[in-house]
Amino acid sequence: MKKDNLNYIILLLIFLVSILLNIFVFEEDSRVPHVSTFTILLITFILIISNSKIKKLIGIFLLFLISLKIIYALYSNGNVTTAVLRSILETNTHETLSMISALFLKLILPSFIITAGSFYFIDKIKKNEKNTSLFLYSILFSAILSIILIALDIKNDQRLISHIKVDKLELGVFFQHKIPLVFGDIIYLIISANDDKYLNTAEIEKFNSSILSKRENNNKNIILIMGESSLFSRYSAYGYHLNTTPHMQKIFSTENSCIVNNAHSSAPVTRDSIPMTLAFNTPESAKNLSENKSIVEMASANGYKTYWLGSQELQGIYSSKYGFIAGKSDYVKLTNYKDNQLPNILAKVLSDSAPKRFIIIHLFGNHMPYDNYDEVDKKALPNAEKYDLTIHYTDRVVNDIFNVINEKKIDFNLIYTSDHGEKVNVGHGSLKGKEQYLIPFMYKSTNPIYDCRFIESFRNKDGYLSGLMNKYILSELLGYEIDKNILKKERDYDRILNANEKPILFAEISE
Ligand SMILES: [Zn+2]
Repeated sequence: MKKDNLNYIILLLIFLVSILLNIFVFEEDSRVPHVSTFTILLITFILIISNSKIKKLIGIFLLFLISLKIIYALYSNGNVTTAVLRSILETNTHETLSMISALFLKLILPSFIITAGSFYFIDKIKKNEKNTSLFLYSILFSAILSIILIALDIKNDQRLISHIKVDKLELGVFFQHKIPLVFGDIIYLIISANDDKYLNTAEIEKFNSSILSKRENNNKNIILIMGESSLFSRYSAYGYHLNTTPHMQKIFSTENSCIVNNAHSSAPVTRDSIPMTLAFNTPESAKNLSENKSIVEMASANGYKTYWLGSQELQGIYSSKYGFIAGKSDYVKLTNYKDNQLPNILAKVLSDSAPKRFIIIHLFGNHMPYDNYDEVDKKALPNAEKYDLTIHYTDRVVNDIFNVINEKKIDFNLIYTSDHGEKVNVGHGSLKGKEQYLIPFMYKSTNPIYDCRFIESFRNKDGYLSGLMNKYILSELLGYEIDKNILKKERDYDRILNANEKPILFAEISE
């Protein structure tokens, strides 16, 4: 075969691989991703066949990243989401180590094998390859074409430009879609790492426009227990065949309490969900987080002492999106992933002299790697999956918390819910999977004015109680009057923020 012909065949092959990758692996089928993926594959190829050792090494490293990305996409049914990318930056060492060990065999090993295989194959080709000018010209052409097309896409999307002005991370999201082959992820990570808008701890003056007035009220102790990665259908309280939640079933089955059906979260990840529960973020915009008082600040403004008792120790908790809210609390105590220390801390908190308290208890709950349980749970449910054991453990923690409240003989409004659900044994933060949103919601109140009918009034026309309602529920409990028109509009527009930071209708999430 003539060498020139071989070059054209290789070029065509790379083009084919590029198209197949975009359509079937990354599910990004528009003009920029096609051109950009082709360009990056070509660059990788030309680096690997280069005679320079350094260029070759860079090429092999790129090839490894590409393999890693492809294997991950195949394993998680689509391109890596920005939610997963951010967790790389925000996760602490505890979680990172447990994730790496869980992913090693699934991701890293196959990527090494693919890299080695492809390198061997490309190196074979190289033996016949002396004239690389065709590839160099192709790279030049497709790179310039990518830049022109990206510029055109930015220019034609007015919404994008205004979004970038509010939040520069939107630009990262844009690139992550347009350049699905590794480079877009790197751009997203760089923009995200330099995002310091959550560092500001100054008090925010302005109330959200839905808040009309505040008044004195009788809710002395408002306690929100925020579970983690909790799928309602694994609770015996919701009909699961294993007896995973005997205590919660009992606690929330009395006359002044309820186990609420059809609750869903507002996002599939902690970081997005919490600011829509405890601040006025919406799926469409995060600007209210920095412009309006959060629920924690609203509690302070109406005479409550505020507490954040959390199991989740984030590195730089004050600089993350929900650490920004947590940091505004009068009292912050973190337990380094030990949910069972929270009841004791609560007992101390309830012994202080504050006349009114707003307490958030943030659990580690049922997060991967599903190791948050002990011997007691194993004995109680000897044949259960690990995930179910973590639910049983959480049930015991909630019981201990409730016992502390009960012993103090205080007035209280108690909510137990979760930041999001879970695709059990898969995780959360992906685009598909309704189970990532389906959560428990339980309520108990010693104030008959705020009984279960109060909670039910937040249910939307499709029959769901959305996590978007949490901030309004809490606002009313804290003594604030809400604009009924805004509430109705927000309530009946049942949408969520998906794992790629796009608002979509809850009804449109595929199973
Ligand atoms: Zn979470």
